[in-house]
Amino acid sequence: MSDAGPRLKLNDGREIPQLGFGVFQIRPEETADAVAHALDTGYRAIDTAAAYRNEAGVAEGIARSGLAREDVFVTTKLWNSDQGRDHTRRAFERSLSRLGSDYVDLYLIHWPVPSRDLYAETWEVLCELHEDGQAHSIGVSNFQIDHLERIIDESGVVPAVNQIELHPRLAQPELRRFHDEHEILTEAWSPLGQGATLQEKVIEDIATARERSPAQIVLRWHLQLGNVVIPKSVTPSRIEENFRIFDFELEEEEMAAMGELDEGRRTGPDPATFAVA
Ligand code: NDP
Repeated sequence: MSDAGPRLKLNDGREIPQLGFGVFQIRPEETADAVAHALDTGYRAIDTAAAYRNEAGVAEGIARSGLAREDVFVTTKLWNSDQGRDHTRRAFERSLSRLGSDYVDLYLIHWPVPSRDLYAETWEVLCELHEDGQAHSIGVSNFQIDHLERIIDESGVVPAVNQIELHPRLAQPELRRFHDEHEILTEAWSPLGQGATLQEKVIEDIATARERSPAQIVLRWHLQLGNVVIPKSVTPSRIEENFRIFDFELEEEEMAAMGELDEGRRTGPDPATFAVA
């Protein structure tokens, strides 16, 4: 473990910090401040997307931190309307330009959008970007087992990561098992359930007993499950609090009690039908 926390091995031989900083719903003009604060705190991974419209703010935050570009693991994502052979490369170039970089550490297909039936050919383009060295690692987001099986069968390339909604109320056991069998890292989005899981009594009780915050308990649960985790906050004290999770460990009974909270309940859209362009 480095000062920036543990790093996990990806199936392509590279590594990803297990704890990163998510910037969804951070306004473009607030993004550089939040990212710079996260990097000062010790985070070394930032999760953005073309759809968040704040990639340029991410670049500015990195520049302001004084860190070298190669010291920060940057993930961005291809938006739904840019899927397909013709659009993907151009969308990738636009993301690079906004990020002020000639590569990304991890490039993801944001949603499968099965109704457009373009995700398999889009995945082929990501494989090319990986071969060219412009996307150091490639993966997907919000893919279900049938979508994963299809791209693996058709391309022979297993995504390094599947970034999915995952928190104590939606623990995704089946998908996590599939990931483990195929060496796909599970990355948890909305890891705090957008704050909603923090009021669960089980979590509050563990937090009180350990003199930690509910958010720290939930993030620690993710770490111990082996998930990559990318909490978002614009509040400096919470950005710091969410980073202080490497100096304690939940007991088996605490993990089991939190495991009971799984209700299979999403806060976000269903990937089988979500098709916003
Ligand atoms: P999170 O589960 O990270 O929750 C964020 C919310 O929790 C914010 O309202 C924040 O408030 C609050 N919060 C953060 N830390 C604490 C704390 N310590 N105590 C109390 N409240 C806290 O939800 P997100 O949906 O933002 O998910 C995280 C990241 O996942 C995104 O930023 C994005 O990078 C990624 N994501 C990916 C998706 C995908 O489709 N691939 C979809 C959605 C998210 P405040 O900011 O006011 O402090």
